[in-house]
Amino acid sequence: SSAFANLTILPPDPLFGLSARFKADTRANKVDLGIGAYRDNQGKPWILPSVRLAEKKLHADPTYNHEYLSISGFEPFTSAAARVILGNSSPVIQDNRIVSIQSLSGTGALHVAASFLKQFYTGSDAAPTVYISKPTWANHIQIFESAGIQTAFYPYWNDATKSLDLEGYLATITAAPRGSIFLLHACAHNPTGLDPTQAQWKQIISSIYAKGHLPLFDSAYQGFASGSLEADAWAVRHAVATQPQDSTILICQSFAKNVGMYGERAGVIHAITPKFNKDLNAAISTNLQKIIRSELSNPPAYGAKVVATVLNTPELYVQWEKDLVTMSSRISTMRRALKAELEVLQTPGKWDHIVEQQGMFSFTGLSAREVQRLEETHGVYMVSSGRASVAGLNEGNVKRVAQAINEVVV
Ligand code: PLP
Repeated sequence: SSAFANLTILPPDPLFGLSARFKADTRANKVDLGIGAYRDNQGKPWILPSVRLAEKKLHADPTYNHEYLSISGFEPFTSAAARVILGNSSPVIQDNRIVSIQSLSGTGALHVAASFLKQFYTGSDAAPTVYISKPTWANHIQIFESAGIQTAFYPYWNDATKSLDLEGYLATITAAPRGSIFLLHACAHNPTGLDPTQAQWKQIISSIYAKGHLPLFDSAYQGFASGSLEADAWAVRHAVATQPQDSTILICQSFAKNVGMYGERAGVIHAITPKFNKDLNAAISTNLQKIIRSELSNPPAYGAKVVATVLNTPELYVQWEKDLVTMSSRISTMRRALKAELEVLQTPGKWDHIVEQQGMFSFTGLSAREVQRLEETHGVYMVSSGRASVAGLNEGNVKRVAQAINEVVV
């Protein structure tokens, strides 16, 4: 009798399992539309020019070293990160209504948020529940469940119309127990690539506030959806501008995609209070730091220093904004190319949604069986939900991908 008799072998993580199958595939013309990581037109990982320059600058600094950061992280990084998401002249920053703590990228920020809410959140009428869009990034559910927080879904994607189920979404907000937590994709919704319009966001956010719910933004793609940091932060900034008294907004911010720092784990958790309260800020900050101290002691330094250099050096910031346009416009070009190829092939179905969606992903509408056949017969890999990472397309493979899709749906 083992002390771990109940332990069973789990299936591989759907996304990282897909990535392993792709790597093991020996076909020369295989195509990876799985994991959400930017690729250049040659299908290669891309170090942003702004990042290359920042790394050079960092290494040229004679005081550069590998000392521990503080528990709360690298302050020039966390404060610049707040300015990126809220805007330079945000009253929140001027009034000191924000606590910003470094995290292990977006996932770590979500985990710290979950742990913090589990321990301290008393704002809900019922046991606190995090409402998550259906569908969502697969990791959301297990991040909250492993912290012991209940999860529930709000309707999001209407499969029949391939558009937002706004009615269902708003009805769920209204029906949820007062003080529930609503996890919102700040932009470039994963997996659907479908974001609410500004008018829809206004309705969503005012309904959330009307029920005293707590908005928890997951901002993993700022600048990736439209190429503009401002446009992609619109929903967050609207929520901040209309924040009621006695409410808190949480933001989980990742620089994995928009600075291309995937493996360096550069992220921030921000808590925004409605009015300046020194003691509340200190209480939030010290308790978040207690979580960090027990779990990782202090966050990784390298990515934070690189991102801070990009954000705090005016010429590098300008370069970064160009890099965002490079990435987002290449992705838009590939969306148009894929749609055009499918139309040339007269592939059954309508493909407008591919160009209407934004961000890294397209929710193609392909079934799990079609996706499986794409992988087995054609070496084209995407998630079984039909989500394709458009960043994996390039001028050299888009025709072949369209032909493969055409073959599996015909
Ligand atoms: N949130 C969403 C919606 C994502 O798609 C991702 C990455 O795929 C993340 C958060 C977190 O990524 P990371 O932990 O690499 O910052």
